[in-house]
Amino acid sequence: MKFISTKGKSPAVTLSQALEAGMASDGGLYVPEEFPHFEIKDFDGLDSFSDIASKVLEPFFKGDQLESSLKKICNAAFSFPVPLKKLKDDTSVLELFHGPTAAFKDVGARFLAECFVASKITERTILVATSGDTGGAVAAAFHKKPGIKVVILFPKDGVSERQKKQLTCWGDNVEAFAVNGTFDDCQKMVKDAFADKSLRHLSSANSINIGRLLPQMSYYVAASLWYSRLHNKNPGFIIPSGNFGNALGALWAHKLGLPIREIAMSVNANKTAFDYFKTKKWEPRPSVQTLANAMDVGNPSNMERVFHLKSDIKMSCISVSDDDIRKTIVAGEKSWGEIWCPHTATAVSMREEINSPDWIIVSTAHPAKFDTIVEPLLGHKIEVPNALSTLLSIPSKYQEISSDTESFKAMLF
Ligand SMILES: *Cc1c(COP(=O)(O)O)cnc(C)c1O
Repeated sequence: MKFISTKGKSPAVTLSQALEAGMASDGGLYVPEEFPHFEIKDFDGLDSFSDIASKVLEPFFKGDQLESSLKKICNAAFSFPVPLKKLKDDTSVLELFHGPTAAFKDVGARFLAECFVASKITERTILVATSGDTGGAVAAAFHKKPGIKVVILFPKDGVSERQKKQLTCWGDNVEAFAVNGTFDDCQKMVKDAFADKSLRHLSSANSINIGRLLPQMSYYVAASLWYSRLHNKNPGFIIPSGNFGNALGALWAHKLGLPIREIAMSVNANKTAFDYFKTKKWEPRPSVQTLANAMDVGNPSNMERVFHLKSDIKMSCISVSDDDIRKTIVAGEKSWGEIWCPHTATAVSMREEINSPDWIIVSTAHPAKFDTIVEPLLGHKIEVPNALSTLLSIPSKYQEISSDTESFKAMLF
C-alpha cells in the first residue's frame, strides 16, 4: 500500500516514509492510495480491539518494513480497554478514555510511538504544540522510548492545572516549555522550526500524521462490529469534533465496508464545519474559546482529507453552545446515569435532538480531566481514574520561555 498527498503534487510514499515525514512535500496530507473492501465475515472469530485492529490495518502495512511488526505494535499500543457500553436499548457509548492520559488521543499517540520504536528510528525530536490533550498523550506515549526526544510547547496560561501536570510530569526524554503567549504562538513556533531545513531531525505527532489516524479508524471498525453482532442493526456514530481527525477515522471505516449507517458530528461554538455542511462554503476563521477546549479549532485541518475522500455516507453536523454543554452535564447523571466531559457532552446533546434509533455516542475524555468545569456544575467531586492520579502526584518540571522563534530554534540544535 502506498500513501498519496491530498494535493496530488508529490510522489506516493510508503507507510514508514509517511509516518516520518508527517506532511507531504507539496503541503498536502497523506491518505491511503486505496481502500480495500472488507466483508463482515472477515472478522469472524475476532473480538478484542487489538485483534480487530491488527486485522483491519494489515492491508495498510502491506509491503512496508513495518508489516511484520503490526501485531506487536497493536498489542503494545492498545494495552487498555476500549469498551462499548450500553446506555439505553438503542444507544451505546464508546469509551475512548481509558488510556494513560484519559483522552482518546492516547490511542493514536501510542500507536505512532510503537511504530517509531519498531522502525528503529533514532535521533529524532518529536515537536508538538498543544492546547491541552495532545501534548500529554504524546509525552506519555514516547516517554523513555530509546533515541527519541519529545519537545512540548504549551501556552503558559492556556491549559488547565490537570492538563499542565500531564504535560510537565515526565522528565527523562520529554522536555516541556511554558510559552509566554497563546496556543497560536506555540503553533507558529513549531511551524517555523519545521520550515527550517537545517533542523532535519524533527518529526511531528499532531493529527496531520497518518500514524495517528489509522488506529483511530480501527475503533470504529470494532465498535460497529460489536454493535451489529449484538443488535443486528448498523449503528450511526456521534463524534465530538474539532480538527476532524477522529471523525475521519469513522468515514474511513465506512469506506472499508464496515456496518456503519451514518456519521453525525458535534462541534462547539467553532462553527466552520457546521457552516460548511449547511452552505457548502468553506470559510476558516480564528478559533473561539469554549468549555470543550480540545475542540476549539477554527480551521480544522483534517477536513482536507474529508473532502478528498468523497464519501457517500449520510453526514450531519450540529453546533452546541457552552450553555447547552453545561445543561447536558448537569442532566447527565439523571438522564443517562453518566458524568460527561464537556466534549462528550456536545455529542450527548446531539443524541437528545435526534429521534432515530441505533446510535453510538463517542466519549472522547474522562470528566475528571476537566474537574474545574464539571465539579461545580454537579456539586460534588468526581473520582479520578488510577492512571490519571498517578500522573498528578509526580512533581512538575518545565521551563518558561518567550514566544521568540529564533531563540527557541537555537535550543533545538
Ligand atoms: C482532540 C479532542 C477532540 C477533537 O478531536 P478531533 O480529532 O480534533 O476532531 C474531542 N474531544 C477531546 C477530549 C479531544 O482531546
